[in-house]
Amino acid sequence: MATQDLLAYHYGYSQFRPGQEEIVEAILDGRDVLGVLPTGGGKSLCYQLPALALEGLTLVISPLISLMKDQVDSLHEHGIRAAYLNSASSWEEVQCLRQALGQGDLDLLYVAPERLKHPAFIDWMREVKLSQVAVDEAHCVSQWGHDFRASYREIGGFIEALDQRPVVSAFTATATAYVRQDIIQQLGLEDPRLVVNSFDRPNLKLRVLEPQSKWEALRQELHPEEAMIIYANTRKQVDQLYDRLRQAKFKVVRYHAGLSAEEREAGQNAFIYEEVNLIVATNAFGMGIDKPDVRKVIHYNMPTDLESYYQEAGRAGRDGLPAEAILLYHAKDIVAAKFLIGQSQDPSSERRLQAMINYADYAGCLRQYLLSYFGENLAEPCQNCSGCLEDIDVRDASREGQMVLSCLVRMRWAYGMSMVCDVLRGSKAQKVRDKGFDSLSTYGLLADYSEKEVKDIISQMLSQGYLSLNQYKGLELTPASKALLKGDKQLTIKARPYKAHSQAKSAQKTAVASQLSERDEELFEALRELRYELAGDEGVPAYIIFNNQTLLEMAEEKPQTYDDFLDISGVGQVKASKYADIFIERIEEWLEG
Ligand code: ADP
Ligand code: ZN
Repeated sequence: MATQDLLAYHYGYSQFRPGQEEIVEAILDGRDVLGVLPTGGGKSLCYQLPALALEGLTLVISPLISLMKDQVDSLHEHGIRAAYLNSASSWEEVQCLRQALGQGDLDLLYVAPERLKHPAFIDWMREVKLSQVAVDEAHCVSQWGHDFRASYREIGGFIEALDQRPVVSAFTATATAYVRQDIIQQLGLEDPRLVVNSFDRPNLKLRVLEPQSKWEALRQELHPEEAMIIYANTRKQVDQLYDRLRQAKFKVVRYHAGLSAEEREAGQNAFIYEEVNLIVATNAFGMGIDKPDVRKVIHYNMPTDLESYYQEAGRAGRDGLPAEAILLYHAKDIVAAKFLIGQSQDPSSERRLQAMINYADYAGCLRQYLLSYFGENLAEPCQNCSGCLEDIDVRDASREGQMVLSCLVRMRWAYGMSMVCDVLRGSKAQKVRDKGFDSLSTYGLLADYSEKEVKDIISQMLSQGYLSLNQYKGLELTPASKALLKGDKQLTIKARPYKAHSQAKSAQKTAVASQLSERDEELFEALRELRYELAGDEGVPAYIIFNNQTLLEMAEEKPQTYDDFLDISGVGQVKASKYADIFIERIEEWLEG
């Protein structure tokens, strides 16, 4: 079958997404590939389709065993022969698998990288016809990336040890130029076809909020009917938010590395299977979770680099429908983040944090900023980010900045933010007088400013490089400080006090359903319910049956024949034969009722 037909037959999609076709063609030509596609860009299909077309087995190397089952279930729904092998597989399962492999009954096999060093496994792979090795989340192989995993280093050697070299495809959502180069080298890709897609996710609204109270802002963003992920930086913060949300009567689960494996899995499953729509988690959660209908990803704290941020935020709206990536930001986060990376050995962490801070502070189009960080140029402001949609005032604070610097110079030591702030505001605190700071000429220079304002100015100076923090969180001057003091450079900051963002939205309509007319929305809800029942019967997440995009189209088109049903995007032959009758019946009921 031609690739286009495979796409329609198995997946029910009429078109490739950008980059997919090129990648598929290259693999079928026997050429190695490095595919750099944004989260939600449709990487899986890039190696799955060739797996169907090629004779022999495609081995998929994937970092997390938790997602393998999901992937494989989803493939089965599409009528594709796939299996996974992990440390939990029983002896019987392994024997079964082995037999299936021997008979050529499998198109795809998923394994974790740790598996590759087992001699028995290598022997196995020598016995079968291995046509493709696909490496998912390939940036894990690079120490320059943000998610290095030592076991990924086994992959190159494994491939080399095979008698016949299969075509190798590698995929990642985040790769700066040198991570890319590193992937090619570490995996030993041979003259790979490099396909780099735009990182833009136009359906994702980017928002940075600076609320007075993060908690209040968070509550306004929650919607019981929509799947949302809240990220916090530490386990403790996750626990606190979790308790608070429960007290506020939200149905919520949590996820972090400090919980037992059972509790983690139960939480994750409740979220994936739509029993609970809200999850609070550390960044330990989400890799490989390809739940496509997450509507919002909210960061309660600022992450320490933009790569991680965009990867996590990108988990919203994979289905292509409107979704939001919200960063709740407070100047305090800068100090916390600097402290976090202070413990890191990686010399590039400082530079990466700076890019993250600049994003949070950016007063222009956030998407332009973000894309330029990934080496892309977006010509026009996007009109779908808080930078574009809310006017953010900036003001010149050079004078205050100079006061902060000259005060620090006079204090003669790298004191922390609170002390510097106290001196500038003319505090009568004992610790200030003890050091004789009340006799400095800079004492009380900013007496008219609130503590918050002064700390804010200092944070902005940190973010713009006019100050740096030493390992004890003491403030220090930088080369740029001098230029500011001399008036050669200016300090421009966001004008605050903070505006109240996003008027309390009345929470009735979900973002997805609001695309439909009111009547179609009813049908959409009815179909959603049906999907939920079916998913329960089959023990798979609802989106594996059909995703929201597909349901929306059904609610709009109201197919009443098998062929019309098959025309809906996301309905392939296998799913149509399985579900057409039951969905058509529900649609007819609704039309009559
Ligand atoms: P990634 O791994 O790149 O984050 P996935 O492979 O999980 O993304 O794909 C994201 C979603 O996009 C999935 O729901 C998938 O079914 C859908 N998708 C992939 N390719 C297409 C296509 N050509 N047309 C429509 N939807 C697609
Ligand atoms: Zn914008």
